[in-house]
Order: sequence, then structure tokens, then C-alpha cells
Amino acid sequence: MAQSAVAQALEARKNELIRSYTAVENLINETVLQACSSRSVALLAVSKFQPSSDILALYNHHGVRHFGENYVQELIGKCNELPQDIMWHFIGGLQTGKCKDLAKQVPNLYAVEAIDSLKKCKKLDTARQQLGYGPILVSLQINTLGEEQKSGYSATVHDELFETIDYLTSTECKSLQLHGLMTIGSFAESTSQDEENADFSCLLDLRTLLEAKYNIKLTLSMGMSNDFVQAIKQGSDSVRVGSKIFGARPPKQSESRS
Ligand SMILES: *Cc1c(COP(=O)(O)O)cnc(C)c1O
Repeated sequence: MAQSAVAQALEARKNELIRSYTAVENLINETVLQACSSRSVALLAVSKFQPSSDILALYNHHGVRHFGENYVQELIGKCNELPQDIMWHFIGGLQTGKCKDLAKQVPNLYAVEAIDSLKKCKKLDTARQQLGYGPILVSLQINTLGEEQKSGYSATVHDELFETIDYLTSTECKSLQLHGLMTIGSFAESTSQDEENADFSCLLDLRTLLEAKYNIKLTLSMGMSNDFVQAIKQGSDSVRVGSKIFGARPPKQSESRS
């Protein structure tokens, strides 16, 4: 009896996850259609603080391969117990001291989306080069509205941003591939749904500038549960959605998780 109650609970959770993931996919597709765009918008399932069983349910029963995590130790743990063909995105604030662990202990690390310094690029690149693992896609986090509590490159003073891109596009850099820009929309901008989001338009402008200066193509990672529809309307290529798929996150635990 107990066994079948567990099985039933897992089955119910699986169905719930597939339902909510599909609902987000549908909303993405509708929004792209309404914008009369033929772009494809990638959906990244943000699984921080969620159990591996939830990730496995989407992996096994809905073919999901891209998952996003914010904490290095948590990601290493999940990487060790989950299938090796998951494409992990690290989207959290990365401490310089954790770059090596991240590069070495997550062989199937696909992307790091919140890079905010040249030093971290170099650390990741060096650690990765020594191992012969595949390249990591890098997106540079931009502090689009210059909020004090947020990390990321300045959108107005470009020196370090240029230095980082110079490095990423040089032959010196072997294991990182510059992929795009990312921003986290401010709460105020995200909650005024019907107007243009200033974080997103700032990221767009910066992309225009960088693509022209470097003659490169950059993707935009912008939009989370509360603002991904608006982000797509404004040109996002990739949205990072957690709670709309998995439900509310368990409360943040001790800092040792990071
Ligand atoms: C947690 C997180 C998300 C997902 O947030 P939701 O509001 O749950 O969709 C997206 N991006 C980043 C950088 C995050 O830290």
C-alpha cells in the first residue's frame, strides 16, 4: 500500500510538471506568433532548490535537457546523480573562488549565463582547458539599470565589458564561447507589465552596439516567470523560468549552499 501511494504521488507530480512546462511553452509560442516573429525562443527550466526527482520527471517524460542552477555545490550534487547528457546552465552569481570547481566538476556544463568579470572568464577557461571537456557558452550579465545591489557589467561604462569581449574573441581563449548578454529585470520594471521594460530595451541597445563594434552575433537571455512574455515581445532569445514550472521554491537555505 505504502509503495503504491508513493508511486501515485510521483505520477501526480510528474503530470503537474509536464502540465506547467507545456503551459509555459505554449505561452512562449503564442507570444512569438503575436509578435509576428519567426524567432525561436529557448526555454530554460530553472531548477534551483528543486529536487532531482522533478528534473528527472521532465527529462524522462517530456524530453527536457536544459536546466538552470544558481549554486555551485547544488549543481555538482545534481550533476553527479542525474543523466550525463543534461545540458546545465549556471545562472547564479559566481564567486571567483568557485570557478575551478564549476569547470571541473560539471563536465556537462553547457553555459554560464551570469559572467560579470574578465577574471572569472580566465579562471573558467584555464580550468576547462586542462580537462579537454567541451566548450562552455558564456553570456555576460549586464546590470542594465545600474542597480546597486545587482552584479553585472555596467551598461554605460564599457571598459571592462570590452576587455572581456576582447579576451573571449581572442585565440588566447580556448574553452569559452561568447554567446550573448543576460539581464535580470528589476522588480519594478517586471511588475509594470503593459509598458516597455527599461531593462530589456537597455540590453537590446547594448547588443546593437556590441554586434556592430565586434561584428558578432549575440543572443539575449532575458525574462523570468513574471516577465518572460514582455521579454519575448521585446526580442528575447532565451527565457529562464523557475516558479512558473516548478511552483514556489522552498525557502532559501544557508549560504553554504552557494
Ligand atoms: C531564480 C532565477 C530565475 C527563475 O526565477 P523565477 O522567477 O522563478 O522564474 C531566472 N533567472 C535567474 C538569474 C534566477 O536566479
